[in-house]
Amino acid sequence: MKFSFVTLFSSIIEGYFQDSILSNAIKTNKISIDFFNPRDYTEDKHNRVDSPMIGGGAGMLMTPQPLSSTIDNILDTSKKAHIIFLTPVGKKFTQNDAKRLSKKEHIVFVSGRYEGIDERVIEQYADELFSIGDYILTGGELASMVLCDAISRNIDGVLGNSSSLDEESYEESMLEAPSFTKPYEYNGKSVILDYSKGNHSKISDLKQKLSMSKTKFFRPDLYQIVKQEENR
Ligand code: SAM
Repeated sequence: MKFSFVTLFSSIIEGYFQDSILSNAIKTNKISIDFFNPRDYTEDKHNRVDSPMIGGGAGMLMTPQPLSSTIDNILDTSKKAHIIFLTPVGKKFTQNDAKRLSKKEHIVFVSGRYEGIDERVIEQYADELFSIGDYILTGGELASMVLCDAISRNIDGVLGNSSSLDEESYEESMLEAPSFTKPYEYNGKSVILDYSKGNHSKISDLKQKLSMSKTKFFRPDLYQIVKQEENR
């Protein structure tokens, strides 16, 4: 899978791929990344990529030409590129989106800066718009890294043990059951005793129940979905 980042500030993103699982995924050719800076494509004689908003409003907006030329350049060599704009007005990104998008060949993340992007560019090029939550960031770079990380974990071979994906939170709308590691006693608190007895079917039943309780307590909205599914 290839990920292309359209951003004015690639250095914000680059560091994230230098360690751990995603660095390894690049070394083993499970994913590749590249960067495109709209400033390299601007036809403005002062190298500008932003301009005041028409109709008034505080701040600047990213102008259409540098972004269009950048994206056209990507599309010239990659007809299968799936173009995602990061924006607070997009659909909230979920684990189901991460799984679905992990089957794509090439994803392009377009990050806005300033007060955002001229709407015509979004209309022309966006296959999807995603938000990572109901708050405003200074730019789309963090959001693009969030999506890229979550998608990458679902690509075959990126995680050392792919079965860990099946037990994680948001599988079938449930949160993960409580987890423990050594020591068995810590600060006067013990791990759940049944976890340490080695009866795997009992542990699995118990985890299922704890997972349900945790979902009900922390995410009643998800719990409702699980209950509706059960009653179908
Ligand atoms: N004026 C815009 C608005 O009110 O919708 C906000 C622009 S924000 C300061 C600049 C850029 O950050 C956006 O173009 C987008 O790429 C990114 N961004 C901000 N919040 C985001 C969020 N919650 N999810 C995804 N991207 C976000």
